[in-house]
Amino acid sequence: MYKPDHVKTSPDFPIPETMRAWVLGDPGQLTLTTKPVPVPKRAEVLVRIDAVAICATDLEIIHHGPPAMIQGGQPYNKNFTPGHEYMGTVAALGPGVDEYEIGERVTVEIHAGCGQCKRCREGMYTACHNYGLNYGDVDKGHRANGFTTDGGFAEYAVNSINTLVRISDEMSDEEATLVVTAGTAMYGLTELGGLVAGESVVVTGPGPIGLLGVAVAKALGAQPVILTGTRDNRLQIGLELGADYVVNAKNEDPVAAVRKLNGGKGVDYVIECSGAPEAVNEAARMVNRGGRICLAAFPGKPAEVDIAYLVRNNIYVYGIRGEGKSATHRAEAFMAQKRFDATKVHTHTFALEDLPTALRYARERIEDAIKVVVKTHGHAAIKSVAAE
Ligand SMILES: [Zn+2]
Ligand SMILES: [Zn+2]
Repeated sequence: MYKPDHVKTSPDFPIPETMRAWVLGDPGQLTLTTKPVPVPKRAEVLVRIDAVAICATDLEIIHHGPPAMIQGGQPYNKNFTPGHEYMGTVAALGPGVDEYEIGERVTVEIHAGCGQCKRCREGMYTACHNYGLNYGDVDKGHRANGFTTDGGFAEYAVNSINTLVRISDEMSDEEATLVVTAGTAMYGLTELGGLVAGESVVVTGPGPIGLLGVAVAKALGAQPVILTGTRDNRLQIGLELGADYVVNAKNEDPVAAVRKLNGGKGVDYVIECSGAPEAVNEAARMVNRGGRICLAAFPGKPAEVDIAYLVRNNIYVYGIRGEGKSATHRAEAFMAQKRFDATKVHTHTFALEDLPTALRYARERIEDAIKVVVKTHGHAAIKSVAAE
């Protein structure tokens, strides 16, 4: 039985000594193996993972490496477990932890900053200056599970208590995995300077962050909220999540359409979630003079940007990493009030052992997949379904 020194466990939540975990070998190569169940240290808990959502960044990490950084370098062949958008149940408490109890359902933020650097002290722990410095003799206390430390494609993970967000019993496991995605959209909007109700917003790119960006902007009182994209089925979900207008960029020029929809002057904010090479230049022409652009996605290659246009029009551009300043807690508050239905972006569920299939659904958008979720228990594996 799992009974490390100074760690509080409960007979109600027996923990095995080992767990199933997916491990990254060479690029694109994942293997289901057995690992020891990790041990929480001070200000940490052990989370039994119940569900984990797949994110485009997981695919980046598995196939290309960054932004994962393990032992100071690429994440390959280091016994590293990716996956970061998970939720579960508190299963054991590290020394001194009294903020949470065993058995509480939680979802997690990804980044636990070091808590000591300038940015962490400002609440910008997703931009921690000690990112990834948690190996060898150096232990700065920084964790970004699934990026710099072991993540959620496994049965258990260790989390700093600062990354935990309590969730209500009414929220399903699948919905709870989406809290951090909504939290990322919330962080973007608040970092732009704090959306004032009645201001206008464009979201470009109807991926999970873009779609939940629409929902959060609307819940914050934005008017109008315009979503641009190229897939009608996703634009339709944007409408269901509160977009006032959608623009299919395949059928019309999105800049002209946005300006027309908002009285010719452009909008106050653009949340750029497409990562298209021309996206910054288009966003600059969608905002009004003095407007603000949040960059929540990026193209694979450096893009050419019309800086003169930004300068002449006093346009602010913000790069946003992750889900800082407790934005995830604020997103969860909206979701608990049912201000929007995040489950509209959840499309598929698989068992943990079917992770490769789940990743393929997400990558190739099979059956219009948006958010694909993997469950560690209670969901039948594909093989056993076929055998029945
Ligand atoms: Zn993610
Ligand atoms: Zn820090």
